[in-house]
Amino acid sequence: MRECKMTEKELICVICPNGCELKALIEEGSQTVVRKISGALCEKGPAWAEQELINPMRTIASSIIVDGGDYPLVSVRTDAAIPLKSISNVMKAIKSIKVKAPVKVGDVLIREPAGTSCNIIATRHVNEVFDDSGI
Ligand code: SF4
Repeated sequence: MRECKMTEKELICVICPNGCELKALIEEGSQTVVRKISGALCEKGPAWAEQELINPMRTIASSIIVDGGDYPLVSVRTDAAIPLKSISNVMKAIKSIKVKAPVKVGDVLIREPAGTSCNIIATRHVNEVFDDSGI
C-alpha cells in the first residue's frame, strides 16, 4: 500500500489587494493532490492556490541586446505566464540572442522559447541609428 502524507500549507492570495490568508490541505504521494483550501473570500483564491501548489506559473521581464539602436538594450517580457521550472531555460534563450534595430513595442523577438507556449515581446521602442561618421 502506498504511503500518503497530509500536510497543511499557508499561502497569501496575490490576485487582489485583499490578500486572503489561505490554508491548503495537501495529500503528497506519487502526485500532489490539494484536498481542501480555506480562507478565501472568493472562488478565485482556491483556483490560484491549487495552481500555485501544483504547477506555479510566472511572467518574467528582462532585456535583449540591440545592434544599431539608440539604446543598447530593449526591455522584454513574456506575453503569458510560464511554469516556474521553465524560467531558467527561457532566461538562457533571452540572453543568447541579439536583435537589430528598429524594434517596436509588441514585436515578438522570440517565439515559444524553451518549448513553452509564450512569446518574448518588446516593451519599448528602440530606433535605428545610422552611422554617418564616415561621410
Ligand atoms: S481569495 Fe479572492 S478576495 Fe481573497 S485575495 Fe484572492 S482574489 Fe482577492
